[in-house]
Amino acid sequence: MNNISMVDLTTQYEKIKHEVNAGIQQVIDSTAFIKGGKVTELQAELATYLRVKHVIPVGNGTDALQIALMALGLKPGDEVITPTFTFIATAEVVALLGLTPVLVDVDFDTFNMNIDALRRAITPNTKAIVPVHLFGQHADMESILHIAHEHNLFVVEDACQAMGSEYTFSDGRKTHAGCSGDIGCTSFFPSKNLGCFGDGGAIFTNNDDLAARMRAIANHGMVVRYYHDLVGVNSRLDSIQAAVLQVKLRHLDTYIAARQAAAAFYDAAFSRTDKLIIPTKNEQTTHAYHQYTLKLVGVNRSALIKYLNDKGIPAMIYYPVPLHMQQAYQDVRYKTGDFPVAEKLSECVFSLPMHTELTDEQLKYITDAVMDGIL
Ligand SMILES: *Cc1c(COP(=O)(O)O)cnc(C)c1O
Repeated sequence: MNNISMVDLTTQYEKIKHEVNAGIQQVIDSTAFIKGGKVTELQAELATYLRVKHVIPVGNGTDALQIALMALGLKPGDEVITPTFTFIATAEVVALLGLTPVLVDVDFDTFNMNIDALRRAITPNTKAIVPVHLFGQHADMESILHIAHEHNLFVVEDACQAMGSEYTFSDGRKTHAGCSGDIGCTSFFPSKNLGCFGDGGAIFTNNDDLAARMRAIANHGMVVRYYHDLVGVNSRLDSIQAAVLQVKLRHLDTYIAARQAAAAFYDAAFSRTDKLIIPTKNEQTTHAYHQYTLKLVGVNRSALIKYLNDKGIPAMIYYPVPLHMQQAYQDVRYKTGDFPVAEKLSECVFSLPMHTELTDEQLKYITDAVMDGIL
């Protein structure tokens, strides 16, 4: 049995080595490293796959979020609502732009933004909502878009973990993660659902004006060369990363299916005990299982992780500290106890290896070890 890792990019690469290497070699031969044909091709292929009008490739997922917020024309002090249980990048860009992050609690079941908390957090200064589709499952977009419409707010989706997840609205309309709000952002970090061989990201929108602004912002605020209409940044995807992503996009549906099959194996094993709560599935969203995250009930988490590590099984805690309890984000408005669900989750969540290459032998070894470890 191969060594077990949280993410096995080695085995995945072995299977697509010829395709990937050929694409990279073409970029090297062309020397079109920046803004090459492959970036333009990838942009079009992603737009088709996602059924979205505009795809703007950028340097990474954090830049995608920052450029999205820059395009909204907000002013210092404007409030942006985001969940407190997420990766730091979501709130970081809000703070960096001088906007005010307003944190809200999440649902215990789905880990995603709680809708009542969102309603309560809206003030006259609220300008945008940034829902996160955590671990690969959509937040409640139907409610979020409804609330945004009522209050005239922008919705910027942090879809960095949810590439490949689809959402079905009650009228039957289906959209990909990042494609139903005003703007969607994703990351191509190597371990993400669609990962490249370095840093990368993309922004999605169906809005022509926002697309034009974001394209300019990502390129030094420039529309006509050396004429700078906006204050921008320098954020681009390079052609070698685009070559890798073109290949992996062709395999993405298979990759998502492999993650879902691994999750089904885990679910079947872990539903036999009350000490583990398996991921909740919401019927409006498919789950891309960026992470397979369990909740422990009355189990000593560090002892379990040590037990698994000793058997060669890695396990991670996503996330051990909610944003309102992070040192850099200490704020007089928030204190420990304000977001009890996120705080409880940070104490009981536990993520197991999840990737496209898990074999039944590995899954059996992991599930047996976890079941033994919780006794
Ligand atoms: C990965 C991630 C990001 C940032 O993406 P980078 O490409 O690493 O900058 C932002 N938000 C969430 C939820 C993420 O998981």
